[in-house]
Amino acid sequence: MQSFSFNRATSINQAAHLAAAASTAQQGAQVRFIAGGTTLTDLMKLGVETPTQLVDINHLPLADIGPGSDGGMKIGALVRNSDMAHDARLLQAYPVLSQALLSGASAQLRNMATTGGNLLQRTRCTYFRDNVSACNKRQPGSGCAAMEGVHRTLAILGTSDHCIATNPSDMNVALMALDATVHIHGERGQRQVPIGEFYLLPGQTPDKETVLQPGELITHITLPPPLPNSRSGYLKLRDRASYEFALASAAVVLQIDNGQVRGARVALGGVGTRPWRSPEAEKVLIGSPATALTWKAAAQAALQDAKPHPENAFKVELAKRCLIHALTTVAQTA
Ligand code: SF4
Repeated sequence: MQSFSFNRATSINQAAHLAAAASTAQQGAQVRFIAGGTTLTDLMKLGVETPTQLVDINHLPLADIGPGSDGGMKIGALVRNSDMAHDARLLQAYPVLSQALLSGASAQLRNMATTGGNLLQRTRCTYFRDNVSACNKRQPGSGCAAMEGVHRTLAILGTSDHCIATNPSDMNVALMALDATVHIHGERGQRQVPIGEFYLLPGQTPDKETVLQPGELITHITLPPPLPNSRSGYLKLRDRASYEFALASAAVVLQIDNGQVRGARVALGGVGTRPWRSPEAEKVLIGSPATALTWKAAAQAALQDAKPHPENAFKVELAKRCLIHALTTVAQTA
C-alpha cells in the first residue's frame, strides 16, 4: 500500500476545504473521503485506489434520517445501510428500499457501509480489481480485458466499446425507482442532482462514473413523498442466496387503480453500467391493464436495447423474467 496523509474533518465545510486544498496544492493529488471504508480500503489494499490523502468524515453530522421539507424523507450520507433498512418510517413508505438494502452484502458490511459510500460503490469487474490487467476504468487507455475475457456477470445495457462493467449496488436501483435526489457540498457551494443524472455512462471515459467534481462531498439524499396509493418491491436474482451481487434485479413502484396501471417506476440492477431506470418499460405500463400480458410487454421494452456478449447473453432473458416476476408480485401486494 502506498503512503498517504490522513485528516479527520470536524465540519462539512472543513471536509470540502481539506479536499479542495489538497487538490490545489499538489497536481495529481487524489483525495478520498472515507466513512465505512468497506469498498475503499479493499481497493487500497489491492493497489487499485492510491489516494494521496484520506479525509475521515465519520464525525460529521450526517447520520440522521428525518422528514424532508416536501413530505418525503431525508437520509444523511453517513446513515449506515442497516439503520436505513430497518427505519420504521422508510419501511412503511418505501419498502423497496429496505428490501434492496437487505438483499445486499452481509449484516456486518451493512453495519459499516454508508449511504454515501453505497452511492459510490465501484464495480466488481474482476479485471478492475486486478492491477495487472488492461482496464480502461482503472487506467484510462489501457484497454478492456473483459471484452474477450470473463464477462458473465457484466453489463448488457449502457455499455460502450471501452467498458462493460456493471454497477453492483442494490440500494442505487431502489433509489432510481424512488426518484431520489443527491445533495452535494463543495467549496463552491451546494447543489442537488436527481439520481437519474448522477451516474455517467462509460462512453469513452469509463473512469468517470458520476457528476461529482474533485473535492465534492455527498451530504444526504432526499426521497419525494411516495406516489399516492402506490406499492413497491425489489427482486434480486443471483448465483447464491446471500452475500452475492445481482445477476439481474428489479425495483418496481406501481400505482394500480381499478385494474389499470396509473403510475409506474421501474429500475433494473445487475445488467446496467449504471443503476438502470427504464422509461421504456414505464411507458408500456402506464395506462395499461394490470395483467400478465402488460408485464411481459414491459419487460420486452426494458431489454430492447440490450447488447450482450457471449458469456452474459443469458442475462437478457433472466432480466425479463426478473422484471415480470417483480411486477406480478408487487401488483398482488395488498
Ligand atoms: Fe475495466 Fe470496464 Fe473493461 Fe472491466 S469492463 S476491464 S472495469 S474497462
